Order: sequence, then structure tokens, then C-alpha cells
Amino acid sequence: MKTQASKLLIGAHTSAAGGVHNALLEGQKIGATTIQLFTANQRQWKVKTLDKVEIQLWKETLQATGLKEIMSHDSYLINLGAPDPENLAKSRAAFAAEIERCTQLDVTYLNFHPGAALKSDPQECLDRIVESLLECRPLLDGHKTRLLLEATAGQGSAIGWRFEELAYLVERLEKKLRVGVCIDTCHIFVAGYDIRTKEGWDHTLKEFDKIVGLKHLYAFHLNDSMKPLGSRVDRHQDLGKGQIGMESFHFLMRDARTRDLPKYLETPGGVSVWEKEIETLRELAT
Ligand SMILES: [Zn+2]
Ligand SMILES: [Zn+2]
Repeated sequence: MKTQASKLLIGAHTSAAGGVHNALLEGQKIGATTIQLFTANQRQWKVKTLDKVEIQLWKETLQATGLKEIMSHDSYLINLGAPDPENLAKSRAAFAAEIERCTQLDVTYLNFHPGAALKSDPQECLDRIVESLLECRPLLDGHKTRLLLEATAGQGSAIGWRFEELAYLVERLEKKLRVGVCIDTCHIFVAGYDIRTKEGWDHTLKEFDKIVGLKHLYAFHLNDSMKPLGSRVDRHQDLGKGQIGMESFHFLMRDARTRDLPKYLETPGGVSVWEKEIETLRELAT
């Protein structure tokens, strides 16, 4: 049986300003059934830990709003494949703190950009990422939080824009950790996967299945793109207003392989636009 459109998990990256529970309340306001948030300031290394009161308030608000499958996005500063030992150590410590906050809040997914090779060899970077993630194993024991590798735009030296790189990571981690992949529509489009049409999506999902495996796909970031196919430049746009177009999102809301997976908007329009986008996506699903 098909899930009712109103129950499909659709949300946006809402604001945790003034406390993490506020991200849930903002989600509820815009008609979301799930949300993504930063559990700490995403542009700072030093962040304060969550206190008991905050965690309790989060749990109560989560119950009250009924939001599900919450996703956390890690800090932009973290590079789990950093070639510089000092930066790598800092990144690993910050990522461990990200996991700690996620398990305290009982968040379903911790989404992160795999890493950037900078001036180092991409293959060595991939192996450093594997090593970084394996170090986190004990922190995840006994918790439901799953680590999601986000498909990137391949800007600069970013790793994870080709399905082969995601597959390399998943293969080395899947038996040891709860891992998976989150596809960002803007990122894979500028990385060269043409998802503008049903035929394009069919082809892309077949490729993903062959290379990574569809069972490893857990979620989507929904963004249109300002930049063209294959440009490898990451600039999000509101749905239907960029180079991807609405047909692509129509497909995602209807296809059996993608319809029930949680979807998080990161479009630049903000709350008023998200509310309309969520409504539109539900209409597309009916
Ligand atoms: Zn994203
Ligand atoms: Zn992006």
C-alpha cells in the first residue's frame, strides 16, 4: 500500500537558533514531517556541549510535534580526509562531538560531506576517511544514529561526487558501522548526473544501484541548481527555479524507489518558500 502523501517524510534544514528544539518547532510551522538541523554552530571548532535541560526539551518537543527521522548536518569545518595531521585530529575530535550530540538527541541520521583531498592524492584521502570513521565505532554502539555520506558536488578537491567513491567508502564500512548515502539533487546534477527527466533518473538510479547499491540509499537533500549539469559548482536554488526543474522532483515523489525516503530541503528561499515547496511536493506525490 502507498503511504499517504501527508505522511511522507518531507522537511527542510530549519534553524536551531536559541536551542535545538526550535528547529523542530520551525519544522512544525512549515508543515514538515521531518527536519535537518545543525546541532551546534557549524562555523566554529569550539562548541558547547548540550546540557540536560536542552536534551529534555528536545525530547518533549520531538514527541509533541511528531516529527520523525531527524537528520543532523555536520559542521562545514570538518574534513575527515584532511592530509594535514593537525587538521585531521581537529576534524576527528569535532566529528566525535557531532556523534555524541546526535546520540544524546537520538537523531536518526548524521549527514556529512565525506572529505576533501586538498593537495593530497584522492585515493589516500578516501583511506583517511575510512580510518576516521572506523575510529568512531565505539561512540555509535548501542545507538540508532546512522552516518550518511552525502554525495557532493565535486567542487575543488571534494571527495564523494562520483558514485564509485561513495561505493569505495560504503564497501569498507558497511560491515563495521551503520552507514549509508544521502543524495543531494543539486550536488549530483552538477557532478554530472542528468536527473532532469524520468529517463535521466531511471538511468541514474540504475547506475547508483549497480555501483553503490540502492539498499544503501537512505535520504535526499532536495535542491534545484543555479549552475549547469557537470559544472561541479554547488549553488542551491528554489525548486523549479534552477537548471534541474520540477519534473525531477515530480519523479522523486512518485517513483517506488524514492517516494518513501525522507527528503530535506536546503533551498535558499527560507521558511516561507519551504512551506510552499513542502505543499507542492505532497501534491506531486498524490
Ligand atoms: Zn546537501
Ligand atoms: Zn550543497
